Amino acid sequence: MKITSIETGLYRVPLAEPLVDSTIRLTEWELVISRIRTDNGVAGAGWAYTLGTGGRAIRALIEDTLAPFVLGQDPFHTERINERLWWAISRMGTGLASFAIAPLDIALWDVVGKAVGRPLWELLGGCRERVPVYGSGINFHLDIDALLKQIQGFLDRGYRAVKMKVGKPDPEEDVDRVRAVRRLIGPRVALMVDANLAWTAAEAVKRATMLQPLNLYWLEEPLPPQDIGGHARLRAAVPIPIAVGESLYTKHEFAEYLRSGAVDIIQADVCRVGGISEWMKIAHLAHAWDIQMAPHVVYELSVSLLCAVQNGLIAEMVSGGSVSELGLLVETIRPEDGWGVPPKRPGHGVVFDEQALARYAV
Ligand SMILES: [Mg+2]
Repeated sequence: MKITSIETGLYRVPLAEPLVDSTIRLTEWELVISRIRTDNGVAGAGWAYTLGTGGRAIRALIEDTLAPFVLGQDPFHTERINERLWWAISRMGTGLASFAIAPLDIALWDVVGKAVGRPLWELLGGCRERVPVYGSGINFHLDIDALLKQIQGFLDRGYRAVKMKVGKPDPEEDVDRVRAVRRLIGPRVALMVDANLAWTAAEAVKRATMLQPLNLYWLEEPLPPQDIGGHARLRAAVPIPIAVGESLYTKHEFAEYLRSGAVDIIQADVCRVGGISEWMKIAHLAHAWDIQMAPHVVYELSVSLLCAVQNGLIAEMVSGGSVSELGLLVETIRPEDGWGVPPKRPGHGVVFDEQALARYAV
């Protein structure tokens, strides 16, 4: 079996509602989608997304630099291809490189699954049939009434875990908002907060101490990702699990966090770490530390990954921020009553609606 063609498209998709956190305001997404065909007729697709910038660079890297390393290869040789792709752009650093590798790697696994007739979650290990999902609100800009309405919507849809943004300039405002949500959801629904890199280590210790009585399930991205020592210091100072990973790009970066005792929950994003091959390595690495995976967004694919591994904790469903909700899939993939079930069709099962995509093509 040989790969005979690779075609890569860029799409700029307006969001149904603005997504706002402590550091960014988002009104559109970019999708870079690679489609791979083989000599026996099996085809697969993979993608990466951006927060609105860099899509053209990712597409150019794939077309000019990476695709030649994949063409003519046997799609079952995922490790051989992966090794060549990383070496091909290893001198560029990790961020942009991993975004460009992801669409190709995800498409390869799609082809492999289809070729053997198995869904991804079984192909990669087949550990469980379903995982819990949390309702994730990009709600920094909402006033308390709108915030509570959004969270109530999560409860109504059956979620037993919810996440909200923090990082307001006034620490008391954060406490008021988190307290209001805790009051609404009661003591037993898990509540996570996400600061999106807003603080220094000293500030984070202070903020986490103020929030601690509200019984948080995790505190996410309190500090810039480079400050591994700061994460370790925070983790030693407060009894709230620390979650990081959406701003890390390779297994080596995660290994450094694990070695430094700087993380409790790992949120590797399959589209940002270079695809399924790298995500699985990170998951197994975390398992060696008895640390669980709660991947950042990409719900439609993450649910399969979480069901494949032993240390899958929970999937994230962002309100207003999934390819299903944006109407880009032939068959929507959504949680039911707070549970995520992976697609049953062979491959990863995420099938883009080409007609719906066409109007966003760049
Ligand atoms: Mg986050």
